[in-house]
Amino acid sequence: MSEIIDADQWDRQKRIRGWDQSAIENSRCLVVGAGALGNEVVKNLLQLGVAEIVVVDYDRVVAANLNRCVLFTPQDALDGGQFKARAVARGAKGINPTARVAAVVKRAEELPEGLFLNFDFCFSCLDNLGARLHLNAHCYGKCALIDGGTFGFNGKVQVVKGGSACLECGVSRRDYAAMWGRYSCTGEKLEFLDPKFPAIATATSFTAAVQANEFVKIAMKSNLPEEMNPLNGRPLSSRKERKFEALEDNLVGKYLFFNGLTNSASVFEVPKRPKCPVHG
Ligand SMILES: [Zn+2]
Repeated sequence: MSEIIDADQWDRQKRIRGWDQSAIENSRCLVVGAGALGNEVVKNLLQLGVAEIVVVDYDRVVAANLNRCVLFTPQDALDGGQFKARAVARGAKGINPTARVAAVVKRAEELPEGLFLNFDFCFSCLDNLGARLHLNAHCYGKCALIDGGTFGFNGKVQVVKGGSACLECGVSRRDYAAMWGRYSCTGEKLEFLDPKFPAIATATSFTAAVQANEFVKIAMKSNLPEEMNPLNGRPLSSRKERKFEALEDNLVGKYLFFNGLTNSASVFEVPKRPKCPVHG
């Protein structure tokens, strides 16, 4: 009996009450950005059992990526560097050979708007605000967007789903000024203004873990019939149970900020901006 149990790759997670492996397996996931966060998010999705992932990145691997990119090898950084998306797709086979991981070598801005209708979840694993806002606008109302970002010891995760507040709702004038400072007046990217941010594997792992954890809760919740207790899968019977909202306690319309130096974490509501360019 124990041999049968141990032969099931997903046995231990299925022991979580209310777990629905099919909700995970059937979720169509798009990961945009195959850098540190993208590597870690893909690794997490594969270990959870997601069967189909598309990874997008236009860039190539350099040695400076290797301190925090779990699926890259030192060989990927040689001879001009392997494309990051392809290196992730190859590394994925070592974690779950049966999953289908496709690599798309493109910038986030080059993805056609209709593409997002093909996915349930889009993981934004990008290092610049311009590309994230582009993704945010294209995902809005089509698929859930789980955005992650890191800076040194800090991590931040925001989730946008349905008609919730979006990434652009929380963008300040200062953010816009910093963003446009990276482009020339013709819209061309100014590489000399492309700063390299401090980044460590610990903050990457934490942030990507929160992104994947939010995915789990939302995927499970989306799969539950109305009025079902997510803990035991039975119909809600009491008023107290109806108030139980474990899976409601996600980051949709909110963001989590974690400071790894002080070990402080806070969740903030993002007010929905009435004149937001995406949905206002
Ligand atoms: Zn908005």
